[in-house]
Amino acid sequence: MGSTDHGDALQVLQRVFGYPEFRGEQADIVEHVIGGGDALVLMPTGGGKSLCYQIPALVRPGTGVVISPLIALMQDQVDALRALGVRAGFLNSSLSWDERRMVEAEFVAGELDLLYLAPERLSSEATVKLLDKADIALFAIDEAHCVSQWGHDFRPDYLSLAHLHERWPKVPRIALTATATEATRAEILTRLDLTDGRQFVSSFDRPNIQYRIVPKKEPKKQLLDLLRGEHQGDAGIVYCLSRASVEKTAEFLVANGIEALPYHAGLDASVRQRNQARFLREDGLVMVATIAFGMGIDKPDVRFVAHLDLPKSVEGYYQETGRAGRDGLPSTAWLAYGLNDVVQQRKMIESSEGDQAFRRRSQAHLDAMLALCETVSCRRTMLLDYFSEKGTPCGNCDTCLSPPESWDGTVAAQKLLSTVWRLRNERNQKFGAGQAIDIVMGRKTAKVLQFDHDRLSTFGIGEDLTESEWRGVVRQLLAQGLLAVEGEYSTLVLTPASSEVLSRKRTVLMRKDATPIRSTTRTAAA
Ligand code: ADP
Ligand code: ZN
Repeated sequence: MGSTDHGDALQVLQRVFGYPEFRGEQADIVEHVIGGGDALVLMPTGGGKSLCYQIPALVRPGTGVVISPLIALMQDQVDALRALGVRAGFLNSSLSWDERRMVEAEFVAGELDLLYLAPERLSSEATVKLLDKADIALFAIDEAHCVSQWGHDFRPDYLSLAHLHERWPKVPRIALTATATEATRAEILTRLDLTDGRQFVSSFDRPNIQYRIVPKKEPKKQLLDLLRGEHQGDAGIVYCLSRASVEKTAEFLVANGIEALPYHAGLDASVRQRNQARFLREDGLVMVATIAFGMGIDKPDVRFVAHLDLPKSVEGYYQETGRAGRDGLPSTAWLAYGLNDVVQQRKMIESSEGDQAFRRRSQAHLDAMLALCETVSCRRTMLLDYFSEKGTPCGNCDTCLSPPESWDGTVAAQKLLSTVWRLRNERNQKFGAGQAIDIVMGRKTAKVLQFDHDRLSTFGIGEDLTESEWRGVVRQLLAQGLLAVEGEYSTLVLTPASSEVLSRKRTVLMRKDATPIRSTTRTAAA
């Protein structure tokens, strides 16, 4: 059957979608699913996952049922398909009773090529009964990483998707995701009962994206320099952690003559929608947003993604930066990262509601992200390695373009750690990084004098380094687990590993914070 099906598939690609040929592994995937096989598809954002299930749905008899968590985008996806003449519909909580009835009637009458469903629908017996009333061409499980509890985007409703196979054993299933480490992939396979299916793993490399992670000093000003220096008039996304910083950053950019729009969950739905629509439609707008923005956004010419705060995981970072350069042209992924990011995130994990396992997972995610920030070797190689892919130094990331020096920070670490150790006995007082740095630098601030910290033996022993170097030392100690933060005031505390440094059993290699680089490959071909 293979070749005829492939012929049909190619015809559909050309006739319905207007593309001359399949891209990458699309042809193999499509043929496999048309033949009735189960599949797990790992492909980076922009790789062309949708066609992998849309075309088999059109070629096979019956309706393709697509399970997607992106309820807000279903309407757009369905509209886009209808514009191409594909008979598509969706069922989710946004529909009125009448609308729902109509879609259900179309499905039962066999008048739909594709039906998009929110995952929670499948937990209801009514939906299962509905699906039994017509032929199903395939099940597509989009954003399949949502089934993984290890991943960063877990949706409990996805767990029930394992039952699809029991209920409809003859219907092929295709699960798709743009984020999957080895662990997530294994979890998807077992949880969705897909171990007998075929895996299609595309390279996750995005060669046209230049990765840069810079020390955070004056983040807004650094951002402005980036935009003015390299991305004047370009469309881009700026990610901030909090709604407040989204607002402030957007205002700051506008005040400096850059057309920027805010986007976060605290804004009116109508404002959000308007801003998103403008960003998609107009040229050269900058969207300042929390991570609430971006999933499923298909804008090919996003020239930069900037992070003003540290993402919580490498997977999140990869997904967010992946929204740059879908058109394959040179683009920048820029992240400003500093001591406060580490303190804040460690604290957030510590004070989170989650159980022990959740915290351990969050710690592991953060540690991997910190390792990427502090690495002295190629960022891309490290990123790909995270997705179990081998790479060689890429020549298109900051560490390749301007290799950072490393230095033996053991003595500096000892000075700082022994200061923290001396502060530990002051039971009722909580001191953070600022106080420890003031002490080693020998600064007689009001707070230093108030607690007689100028009498500590470590007072002034670190005058050889600047404040920003000391902040770099603390940041890297936190990143390497040689120091921890505790409690409401982010008190610095020692860890079991700290004592190895203090007792000279362990040396500490640190990264010298590099001077900022500028892209020189702006016009080079990807
Ligand atoms: P993903 O879901 O993997 O992020 P999409 O399915 O949204 O990617 O596809 C990304 C873009 O690439 C879309 O604009 C899509 O129309 C386009 N595309 C996909 N496959 C092809 C192809 N074979 N030829 C040309 N363009 C394609
Ligand atoms: Zn590199």
